[in-house]
Amino acid sequence: MKKLQKLFPSMDGNEFQREETLSYFRTVLTKIDELKDPNKLTLGEMPEYTEGYYNRIIQNADVPKTGVPMEEVIQELLKLVEGHRFVNRNYVANAAPLPNIASIIGNLVMVLVNGNNIWDVEGPAAATAEVEITSMLSKLIGYDESISAGYTTWGGQGAVFNSLRLAIARYAPSSNQNGVPQNLYCFCSELSHYSLYKSVEATGIGVENMIRVKANADHSMNLEDLKEKMEYVIAKGGIPLYVLATMGTTDTFGVDDLEGIKRIAEELERTNGIYPIYIHADSAMGGMYTFFNNYDFESNPLRFEDNVNEVLKSYQQKFKHIKLADSMVFDFHKLGQTPYITSLFLIKNREYLKYVDLDAEETPYVGNRGYGSYHTGYTLECSRMGSALTIYASLLAFGIEGYQELLANYIRVNITFREMLIKEVPNMVITNEVSPITTFRFYPENTKWNDELNGLLTLEEIMEINQFNDEFAEVIGEERDTVFFGNTKKQRLVEVVNSNKRISVYAHKFFAISPYTTIEEVERYVGFLKEHQEYFIKTRSSENILIRA
Ligand SMILES: *Cc1c(COP(=O)(O)O)cnc(C)c1O
Repeated sequence: MKKLQKLFPSMDGNEFQREETLSYFRTVLTKIDELKDPNKLTLGEMPEYTEGYYNRIIQNADVPKTGVPMEEVIQELLKLVEGHRFVNRNYVANAAPLPNIASIIGNLVMVLVNGNNIWDVEGPAAATAEVEITSMLSKLIGYDESISAGYTTWGGQGAVFNSLRLAIARYAPSSNQNGVPQNLYCFCSELSHYSLYKSVEATGIGVENMIRVKANADHSMNLEDLKEKMEYVIAKGGIPLYVLATMGTTDTFGVDDLEGIKRIAEELERTNGIYPIYIHADSAMGGMYTFFNNYDFESNPLRFEDNVNEVLKSYQQKFKHIKLADSMVFDFHKLGQTPYITSLFLIKNREYLKYVDLDAEETPYVGNRGYGSYHTGYTLECSRMGSALTIYASLLAFGIEGYQELLANYIRVNITFREMLIKEVPNMVITNEVSPITTFRFYPENTKWNDELNGLLTLEEIMEINQFNDEFAEVIGEERDTVFFGNTKKQRLVEVVNSNKRISVYAHKFFAISPYTTIEEVERYVGFLKEHQEYFIKTRSSENILIRA
């Protein structure tokens, strides 16, 4: 056993074992640092992902008969890191975080004491941190912290699933025994994340009962369409159970009008005498912008530029209503710059949890003890990581103002990027509002965006422009090692002259997520696009080369 004990942290806190562990940490940090290159996206060289790459790995994988020395373990791990994307200034693809140092330390503390967030007896640190961040963030968004509840869970998607489960159990408390009623309906924007799609599948509500609502030009949910579709469901004897209000669509950062959604829900409840409709704010992408809910844009203490101030002020008008939702989520591992997974599911009224909590006798390990006073039998997880510690550390280190600066910079960089792109690349159009994301679309010659928006093109014409953009995404994707742009095949849906079907529009995506993405860098991004775009158009027309679709 002595030999095996060496694989564990010490029991008595002796210096020798601590130094040994520290030296491992030092090696890992040093080696990763050695692989960093500010001019490249990746840590070292990307591996060749040839056809047989994963097959070879499957064939060669075996648990070693005897354990290998720690030095070798570290070496093998570092081999995996070779070619890993690193979220530096060259990463402008998606909402992928570069975990801040406080969050890394919070995470390390979580791992070192390895509490189980299921029960405070097994994980007191995470339990206290969870209660604390739940209160902190409830106050920030305007929930009453004395009746709200919250827990960390498996992502923004987990929050959607958890909220739907609450909605079902609240409406039909017997559904836990008898199964889900067949006439429940959910509503979401046609541009919402697929989280709800998966959740209606998994809860048994069924995809047929998920009603997609049209989006407005600004990518928010069209409220007239919502109301019409809800009324239709009611008229047919269905139950409008749940509305997903997206606060920042994943690709275009459209923000739904929560106040308007709440108004419609209450109106329908009144006129039809129906049960309250559950509203979940899917704020996985945009929730961090509630950090401006109390910012004074008149005195502007952080001295944001006018155009930045204006955008943030318009967000305040939208995000201050998030408190009307029955639940919402903070996905810190998106715009909050913390490691995966750090998502806090916040519930306006902790009473809701009683519909999904387990009976004490169903939880023989943790529920039936007199000691301990924080039981989380209502979560879908059993053992649960204590990622509240990670969030907590980050909130302390940044404070409200630190996050405000970080979030304002995403906007600042996007404004600059837009201005320069419009100036430098004429056959390109920007297809969403100013936000942390800019989506843009290229055309072989002149832009046809207005015609596309107004439904004046044919299906074939739009498909051809989509194809053009798809090929271009492949071309710049090959060089993602230099600058990594994102893309989406669901920018929005548009009408066409020769079909009843609305067609999805493809676009490229610039996501200013890294703290190293500053306005000084914008020239490089635009230069990269301009150069590749000119080359692409030339080679495409002259050689008509075949590019992988
Ligand atoms: C990212 C995202 C999700 C999913 O969040 P995860 O943390 O990846 O599970 C859900 N909804 C929206 C709007 C998102 O942007």
